[in-house]
Amino acid sequence: MLKATMDYRRLGQAGLRVSALSYGTWVTFAEQGDFDRALQCLDIAGRAGVNLFDTADAYGNGEAERLLGLGFETLGWDRAAYVLATKLFVGTRDCVNMRQTLNRKYLLQGIEDSLQRLRTDFVDLLYCHRPDPHTPLEETVWAMSDIVARGKALYWGTSGWSPAQILEACAIAERHHLRKPTMEQSEYHLLARERIERDGAAIHRDHGIGLTTWSPLASGLLSGKYAGGIPAGSRAAQRGFAWLQPRLCDAADNRRVQRMQAVAQRFGASAAQLAIAWCTCHPAVASVTLGASSPAQLRENLAAIALAPLLDGDTLRELDALFPAGAAASLDTPTNTSTNAPTGAENTGTSTFSPSSFSLK
Ligand code: NDP
Repeated sequence: MLKATMDYRRLGQAGLRVSALSYGTWVTFAEQGDFDRALQCLDIAGRAGVNLFDTADAYGNGEAERLLGLGFETLGWDRAAYVLATKLFVGTRDCVNMRQTLNRKYLLQGIEDSLQRLRTDFVDLLYCHRPDPHTPLEETVWAMSDIVARGKALYWGTSGWSPAQILEACAIAERHHLRKPTMEQSEYHLLARERIERDGAAIHRDHGIGLTTWSPLASGLLSGKYAGGIPAGSRAAQRGFAWLQPRLCDAADNRRVQRMQAVAQRFGASAAQLAIAWCTCHPAVASVTLGASSPAQLRENLAAIALAPLLDGDTLRELDALFPAGAAASLDTPTNTSTNAPTGAENTGTSTFSPSSFSLK
C-alpha cells in the first residue's frame, strides 16, 4: 500500500502554492451527484493534503458548484486553507449573451452567480473555460481584470487557449496596466500529451504561466476499466455521455493500458495510480486535477503521489514507448468542441519535452 504525502508547487510565477494533486467535480458532483458521497470525497481529499478544488458553472448547469459550496460549508473548513477554482464560458442562464461567451455582461453576471452557488465572497482561481472567437479579447481581458480588481477572484487564467491567445491576452493586459492571466488548465494524460509538453511547457518556461491539468485517466480509460466493455455505472454509461464510448472502448488503447498495468504491478500500484503519477512528473505541471466518483477511487488515486518519486528513467521511457507523444486524440467534450469554442492546439514551433527527459526528485 502506497502511503501518500502531498507535495505543494507554485502556480507558475504566482506566489500561490497548490497541491500537486487537486480534486475536480466534473460529472461526479452533478450528473452522478450524491451529496453524502461528495462530502466524503471532500473530506478524504482534505485529509490527504489536497488544497485545490476545481469546478465550473458548466458542470451540471451550476449543480456541481452548488454541491461544492454546500460541502465546504458543511465541513466548516477555514476559507484560508483551500484554493477554490471555477470556470466561466458555458453559462447557466438561458438567454442571449449568457451562453458560450466571454463577453463582459456574462462574465460579471457569471461570477456573481458562481459565488452565490459556492457560498463564498471570492474564488481563488477563475478560468475562462474556452476561448471565445466572437468577443474581442480586449473586452474579456478588461472584464477578467476588473473581477480580480473587485476582489471576486484572486487570479484569472485560461483553459484550452492556445499559447498565441494567452500571449495576446498578456500583451493587452500589459498595454492597459491590467491583471495578466496567471494560469492555464489543459488536458494532459498519457493519451494526450501535446497541450502540456509542447504548448504549456513553453508558456510556462518563457512567460511563467502556471499549469493545472485535467482528465489524468482520460475519463477512466487509463484505469483499465474499459478493457472488457462499458461497466455499469461508469462515466461512459451515464446519460448524456455516450459520445465518450467509442474513445473509451478503443481496442488499441485498451491493449496499451493492459500493458501499462503490467508496469504498474512492478511497483505494487494500479494502472490508475501509474497514469496519475506520470502526469505529476512533468516539471511544468503545478497540479493534476483528479476525478473520482467514489471514496475508494479517490483514496486509490491520491496514493499516486507516493508513486511519482519511484518512477525512474527506464520506467518513464517504457511509458513513452507505449504512449508516444502525438499518438492519440483528446477527449474534449462536445460543448467544448463546439464551433464557438475552437480547441485545437496551434503549432507554435516550440520544442517538446516529456517527463522522461527530466530527472525526478
Ligand atoms: P479522469 O480522467 O481521472 O476521470 C475520472 C473518472 O474516471 C472518474 O469520475 C471515474 O469515473 C473514473 N475513475 C477515477 N478513478 C478511478 C479508478 N481508480 N479506477 C477506476 N475508475 C476510476 O478525470 P476527469 O475527466 O474527471 O477530470 C478531472 C477534473 O478535471 C474534472 O473533475 C474537472 O474538475 C477538470 N476538468 C476540466 C476540464 C476543462 O475543460 N478545463 C475538462 C475536464 C475536466 P466512473 O467511476 O464514473 O467510471
